[in-house]
Amino acid sequence: MLTASRIPARRHPPWPLWLGLGLAVIIAIATLVHAQATRSALRETAGRAGGTLQLAATGLEGYLERFERLPPLLAQQVPVRALAADPDDPETVAAANRFLRDLTTELGASDIYVMDADGLTRAASNFDRPHSFVGGNFAFRPYFGDAVARGAGSFYALGTTSLRRGFYFGAPIIDGDRVLGVVALKIDMDLVEANWAEADYHVIVTDPQGVIFLSSNPAWRFGRTRPVTPDGQAMLAQTRRYADAALFDVDLSRAETAEGDALWQLDGQEYLAVSAAMPKADWTVTILQSTAPARTQARTATLGSVLALTVFAMMVAVILQRRARLRDRLLVQAAAQSQLEARVTERTRELAVVNKALEAEVTERRQAEASLRRAQDDLVQAAKLAALGQMSATLGHEVNQPLGALRNYAENAGTLLSKGRLAETRTALDRILDMADRISAIAKRLHTFGRRPGVQLVAVDVTDAVEAAQEIAGLRLRQIGVDLTVELPPGLAPVRAGPVRLQQVLVNLLTNAADAVAAGPDRRVRLSARTEADEVVILVEDSGPGVPPDIAPRIFDPFFSTKGVGNGLGLGLSITYNILKDFDGAIALVPGRWTGAAFEVRLHRADGGTQAAATTKDRAA
Ligand code: ADP
Repeated sequence: MLTASRIPARRHPPWPLWLGLGLAVIIAIATLVHAQATRSALRETAGRAGGTLQLAATGLEGYLERFERLPPLLAQQVPVRALAADPDDPETVAAANRFLRDLTTELGASDIYVMDADGLTRAASNFDRPHSFVGGNFAFRPYFGDAVARGAGSFYALGTTSLRRGFYFGAPIIDGDRVLGVVALKIDMDLVEANWAEADYHVIVTDPQGVIFLSSNPAWRFGRTRPVTPDGQAMLAQTRRYADAALFDVDLSRAETAEGDALWQLDGQEYLAVSAAMPKADWTVTILQSTAPARTQARTATLGSVLALTVFAMMVAVILQRRARLRDRLLVQAAAQSQLEARVTERTRELAVVNKALEAEVTERRQAEASLRRAQDDLVQAAKLAALGQMSATLGHEVNQPLGALRNYAENAGTLLSKGRLAETRTALDRILDMADRISAIAKRLHTFGRRPGVQLVAVDVTDAVEAAQEIAGLRLRQIGVDLTVELPPGLAPVRAGPVRLQQVLVNLLTNAADAVAAGPDRRVRLSARTEADEVVILVEDSGPGVPPDIAPRIFDPFFSTKGVGNGLGLGLSITYNILKDFDGAIALVPGRWTGAAFEVRLHRADGGTQAAATTKDRAA
């Protein structure tokens, strides 16, 4: 099983740090978005207010212009002129009053009245109303003075009599170059103001002193938007613009938007203020557009972007978390993989060990098989030899027949001798001798061959055995003219063998070597011996043609000979092999120093324990 410790620990940045960072980024972006949204919303508001202002100003201007031209025309009218000419005549006054009343209704003005040159009102449209202008002196109003002095006058003010705000136009009644009086027309501005009540913005009209004259919000009426200067105060007192109305300071503080638009904090509400001066009326029209919708819009936009950002951040967080989880899973998988690999490596190593053990076993089996085969070969060889033993016995028996022939030769020889044919007798005798020798040789060898092995082994001195063998094979070696070298190191260890049989082995090898070199001019034979770890090795080499490789495996077989009929029986090496087997020794054809064959005989050393070779020599077979 996987354990947690195997998985490399992931280094997480502390999550509060991430949260703080994310919050900071969101706040920063929200701040930026809010500022930008506010700016553009306010700009838009300002644009809208600008449009409104233009409409309002144009409307106002048009309204005033409608009446502006009327007073000069009125000054031309007969009833007006008659009144100016004779202001004390009741008939004229009455006619003028009626005329003015009817005209006012027709024109839609508030009041029309006629003053004499001193400013005293002689006739008025409201002559029959409770607060009639008749008898009132308005010489203090600028529209009177201006009309007298410059031919036209206008003024806006709170009516001192009516207590209604009005816009006054004045025109002189001229006779020649004399001003007889002034005709004045008053428009009721309260009506204008009423038209603004429904709008979603505020309109204020301020005088040059900053006093609010008209306002869509009645609460601000006659409020001061800034402190009135002493000059202004004097002017107000002189013209009585606001009659007896009490002026007050509105709760106003000014600021500016980033774009430079005026921001008014008025009565606790914020407005975007767009103003335009109307020189003709000598006032300033201001549109106050509430910034609340713009602020709400900016807030909404900010909130929206914050929401979007938060969603985005959350998505990023989810994706990051997923990736982290995936990475964790991959790490776990990698750990599992490496563990698996480690296990596979371990298992492979174990398998390799098992494999090696198996290989060793196989090798052992092969060796066992090889030794078994060798044992089988040996058995076959032994069986062959056993059969040969039987056969030799038979052959021995069979030798009797040639012996009979030999006997005949002998009888013949006797007869020839008795007849005195000596030469022929001699020949017969030689034949008899040859035959006898040959038969006896065969018999002797077969006898040896058929003899059962197993005679007790003794320590045999190799040098002695070599000397004896040299003696036996000497005649043949000399006949052939062999150059024999014997190299026996002093102190050669004794071997476990039978002395006579060892001689026979050496004789066989020497005669075979002699036979091999006989055909050629180089007739060297070498017999050497050496002591090895627990063996003595005897080597017989010759300079003959050697053993061809194709027949090498068969030379130890019984009756295998290449020497032709009458020359070899093919038993020499077979017998040698058998004898050495009895000694628990071995013979092998090995590479020699010369061209010819080299036979290597290996015998066990008989050092220690065993009696001296000399004492046992006679007892052994
Ligand atoms: P034989 O000598 O009667 O032929 P052996 O058993 O002694 O029988 O030898 C068998 C055969 O081995 C020989 O016929 C010969 O071909 C071969 N042989 C033995 N010794 C030698 C040698 N020294 N050089 C070459 N061939 C040899």
